Amino acid sequence: MRLAVLKERRPAETRVAATPETVKKFIALGLTVAVEAGAGLSAGIPDAEYAAAGAELAPDAASALHGAGIVLKVRAPLGTGEGAVDELSLIARGTLLLGQLQATPEMAATYAQLGLEAGAMELLPRITRAQSMDILSSQANLAGYRAVIEAAAAFDRGFPMLMTAAGTIPAANVFIMGAGVAGLQAIATARRLGGRVSATDVRPAAKEEIKSLGASFVGYEDEESKAAQTAGGYAKQLSANFYAKQAEVVATHIAKQDIVITTALVQGRKAPTLVTAEMVRSMKPGSIIVDIASDAGGNVALTKPGEVVTTENGVTILGHSNWPGRIPAAASALYARNLLTFLTTFWDKEAKAPKLPESDEIVKGVLLTRGGAVIHPSLAPAQA
Ligand code: NAD
Repeated sequence: MRLAVLKERRPAETRVAATPETVKKFIALGLTVAVEAGAGLSAGIPDAEYAAAGAELAPDAASALHGAGIVLKVRAPLGTGEGAVDELSLIARGTLLLGQLQATPEMAATYAQLGLEAGAMELLPRITRAQSMDILSSQANLAGYRAVIEAAAAFDRGFPMLMTAAGTIPAANVFIMGAGVAGLQAIATARRLGGRVSATDVRPAAKEEIKSLGASFVGYEDEESKAAQTAGGYAKQLSANFYAKQAEVVATHIAKQDIVITTALVQGRKAPTLVTAEMVRSMKPGSIIVDIASDAGGNVALTKPGEVVTTENGVTILGHSNWPGRIPAAASALYARNLLTFLTTFWDKEAKAPKLPESDEIVKGVLLTRGGAVIHPSLAPAQA
């Protein structure tokens, strides 16, 4: 069976879905691997390294996809009118397509119509058995790290307290909003750099995690926040009253911060606005805000997704898209391993092909379409 790896063509996408390391392992499983020329360049992987790992280099997407039974992508393949190459139209019916596939009802219908077995890796259940395949965690972890590094680079003072013969520079006050995977890594990174770190979240479990990393907890808690976590571990959408109370606590704290990193998401919704324009105006000139949630609309009222803005009072807001893509070599290495683990977990050694039983919780969570129909429980048309 042939596995194809395409070059990513969507804006701001620098990652690649397979590395020479994973290519070698796919070949050891009995697959032949085709990599589109230039696929790894923006992640620092030259074509020659894929060739040395045993991959066939294909000059374009069409030749990489020719005869492929498995296609690995970071982002959803381009469709009609989306770019110079209509990648979707080049993928044969029956092909297993794995990536972050924009699992909307419309996209699922398109994959079904094309007869693809589309696996949306962003829907992977957050269960222990699936941890090593969890692209959301591997990518969020790096996003949290990278956000702090970029904040430190943009900040015109230091993170640690610097005691020198010429005098002392105080440590930076760093506030992390949202302590999920990205936020916890941001806390750890900011602490390693020597910042004075505080953090907030709405889930009660997050408070303990914040403290265990040595940061102080800042937040509003009431009866509602005691039940702020869904069974899947995500934050729930809370009442307007709760958000108003939370904003009051945040407002006094934020005015004293040098660096604010926002990471808060509520599954399936636009990111909550946690930092109002007024709060930004209360911050000192030279302060930095990094909005990791910018792709989901942003946590900061003044974020311009994909852009860096400096406000009238001298606060810089980094609203870049695709934070994991800003550390592409590491992000690709982890993403590629996540896909490798998924495929090896569901590998039929005798058939030398993947076997994805719909009865398995992980497969059920990920697989959007099969046999020309949308089969995902949250996307399939309701049965009459
Ligand atoms: P996420 O990206 O959905 O959200 C980021 C954080 O924002 C979360 O901690 C959330 O509580 C927080 N948030 C939402 N609204 C907020 C608000 N108004 N104010 C402050 N913070 C707010 O979260 P995630 O990083 O994907 O993690 C989600 C959950 O999944 C966590 O409980 C995590 O421990 C769990 N998890 C489990 C596994 C596993 O067991 N395999 C793997 C990864 C994550």
